[in-house]
Amino acid sequence: MTTHVRQFLCLKDNYGVLIHDSGSGATATIDAPDGEAVIAAADAEGWTLTDVLVTHHHADHTQGLPALRARYPKLKVVGPAKEAARIAGLDQHVVEGDYAHVGRLAAKVIETPGHTAGHIAYWFEEDEIVFVGDTLFSLGCGRVFETPYPVMWDSLNKLAALPGETQVYCGHEYTEANGRFAMTIEPGNAILKARIEQVAALRAAGKPTVPTTIAAELAANPFLRAEEPQIQAAIGMKDADAAAAFAEIRTRKDRF
Ligand code: ZN
Ligand code: FE
Repeated sequence: MTTHVRQFLCLKDNYGVLIHDSGSGATATIDAPDGEAVIAAADAEGWTLTDVLVTHHHADHTQGLPALRARYPKLKVVGPAKEAARIAGLDQHVVEGDYAHVGRLAAKVIETPGHTAGHIAYWFEEDEIVFVGDTLFSLGCGRVFETPYPVMWDSLNKLAALPGETQVYCGHEYTEANGRFAMTIEPGNAILKARIEQVAALRAAGKPTVPTTIAAELAANPFLRAEEPQIQAAIGMKDADAAAAFAEIRTRKDRF
């Protein structure tokens, strides 16, 4: 059994990503940002799409579903039970702890409310890969639209608790802008500085900065580091509740 992942940019800055089980031939797309781009990526690999794993209801993650259904009549679309009313035509509704299968690959569902109230991530534990949608980004996190800030903080901590070597695939290429913001929160973080240099080199070469890893994000992502004393001091919130410090950092990013 071998697992293959193909990632590609589409729309303005969305990532499309396919996961393929060569043992069974099954292939899933994580979300459906752009139906034609997903189909082109699958065709380029000679893969036939069997499943869609939807992370949340936003249009830039679901608008390609009709085109995918038209091309692959047997397609199975999995998505969050809590957003079933907002995503047309889900075949399987999942909640925390459920599994979605892509051939012989298994993804555990992790509920990560915050960006949207029913947002979920898909953790392929055996493959050490997690698809996090718009909850966690490389050096950033999603905007908190539909829940109080502490709910998003709890969701980020669930992802942060995954094994450090886990590869993290997110919904957007936002790393450069996230890095510029991160430097305003923790300018003394040498690991962050090194990462920003590496990101600049990748972008200059036209290469993606995603996937990242949980360990890399724990070391450099200010949103996962809201408990760190030097960050709380820098934002004038010494000894603050971590969720409150997170809310302050997220609010500053909204204005950045
Ligand atoms: Zn979104
Ligand atoms: Fe998005």
